Amino acid sequence: MLIDVLTLFPGMFSGPLEDSILKRARESGLLRVRLFDIREFAFDKHRVTDDTPYGGGQGMVMKPEPIFRAVEAAGVGEPPPRVVLMCPQGEVFTQRKAWELADHKHLILICGRYEGVDERVRTNLADDVISIGDYVLTGGEIPALVVIDSVVRLIPGVLGDPASPYRDSFMEGLLEGPQYTRPQAYRGLSVPQILLTGDHERIWRWRRRMALLRTRQVRPDLFAQAKLTSEDYQLLQESSDE
Ligand code: SAM
Repeated sequence: MLIDVLTLFPGMFSGPLEDSILKRARESGLLRVRLFDIREFAFDKHRVTDDTPYGGGQGMVMKPEPIFRAVEAAGVGEPPPRVVLMCPQGEVFTQRKAWELADHKHLILICGRYEGVDERVRTNLADDVISIGDYVLTGGEIPALVVIDSVVRLIPGVLGDPASPYRDSFMEGLLEGPQYTRPQAYRGLSVPQILLTGDHERIWRWRRRMALLRTRQVRPDLFAQAKLTSEDYQLLQESSDE
């Protein structure tokens, strides 16, 4: 996958792209990231990328021309890239959206700053407008990194265990249940006995039940949408003997 990032602060990407799984994905050739400094596409003497808002008001708005030019510079090739604008007024990012973006070979992520980006970028350039949640950050760089991280781990071969993303939270509209590791007892807190039995069928049922209970408690919105089986309803009825 090729991911192009359009930003005024390319330096913000060096840490996250140079460590751990993103680093390995790049080294193995599964991921290529190109950072485009939007300022380099502002052709006036002072390389101006923002201006005051029409109609008055506070702050500065990012000008359209450098962003259009940067997308055109990045976007040559087939298949055509998917252009994504990071914006708090966008569709809220979900695991489902991450899977959808992971199907594309080439993404272009546009990071806004200041009061945001000229509306013509949204209406005439972006295929998707994505918000990472209902809060406002100072810029689109951290949202772009959120998108990169969540999408890249879905590219086949990036994670050591290819089945791993299919077991994660949200896959079946549910959160994952609790996980434990050694030691068996810590500060008087013990691991649930059932996980030590080696009885895979009972462990599977326990995990499923915990996932159902956790989702119902923490994310009733997800739970209401989840497609539950008759066995799931039965599991919810059972009292915990662990
Ligand atoms: N004035 C804008 C508003 O009220 O919607 C906020 C602009 S914000 C300070 C500057 C830039 O940060 C945005 O253009 C966007 O690229 C990015 N940004 C901030 N919060 C975001 C979020 N929740 N999701 C995605 N991008 C965000």
